[in-house]
Amino acid sequence: MPELPEVESLRRALRPLLEGHILGAVIVRQRRLRYPVDTRLLRRALPGRRITRIRRRGKYLLFDLDDGPSLLVHLGMSGRLSLVPADLPFARHDHVAFGLADGLQLRFNDARRFGVIDMVPAGGESRHRLLAHLGVEPLEKEFNAANLRAMAHGRHCPVKTFIMDARRVVGVGNIYACEALFMAGIHPRRAAGRISQPRWQSLTTAVRRILNAAIRQGGTTLRDYLNVTGEPGGYRRHLRVYGREDESCRRCRRPIRRVVLSGRGTFYCPGCQI
Ligand SMILES: [Zn+2]
Repeated sequence: MPELPEVESLRRALRPLLEGHILGAVIVRQRRLRYPVDTRLLRRALPGRRITRIRRRGKYLLFDLDDGPSLLVHLGMSGRLSLVPADLPFARHDHVAFGLADGLQLRFNDARRFGVIDMVPAGGESRHRLLAHLGVEPLEKEFNAANLRAMAHGRHCPVKTFIMDARRVVGVGNIYACEALFMAGIHPRRAAGRISQPRWQSLTTAVRRILNAAIRQGGTTLRDYLNVTGEPGGYRRHLRVYGREDESCRRCRRPIRRVVLSGRGTFYCPGCQI
């Protein structure tokens, strides 16, 4: 499943190719994605509009249009975007194609069809059903020790569950949460409300460093033109705890442990994380 770093890498790859370009015809070959695609709405909103900017909110890509609304794309479990010549025959699972004025098409391919394509009205982001409840962006300045400590005040849930809750912080997937907690020396089960400000400082720094490293590596998974894969790309070889149960900690040599927290496999070092 594409995580925040893959989506951010994709955004950075798409920007120079699509910003400033004008959209053409929209082809919807399969409208049954996670929610039904509103073909008429897309055909009314997109052709002739210029893409001014491509943004990301959590794992949603937002293509801002020159008249105000934005096209929203979520890759779901298996979605891919690729920019191809418009006359290239459609591949299996190519569900939606967005024409561009210069003979290219941006195609959305999604074998499992958990992806989402929708429109966000101008200024309607904070009311959109998929965006309204999203928490802070981990790469923005609102993601800081003071804010996190205030948000966690009085909360008894494990810190790992807390930082993975999209209503509080968006886009910190399981692998990145495990690795960031190791880097910050915090036990994943520690109650969120009982973490001191300096430790929140370490944790926010760790999350940022890990996501940024993965974004840099994520670029390598985009080699196949603009396809994103569900793999965390080259970042895997940097993993210190995730997937390393019973292997020795690279810092203290104790065996890495695995527990299940909120249904997710959670890896940590009992020596380094308290
Ligand atoms: Zn250790």
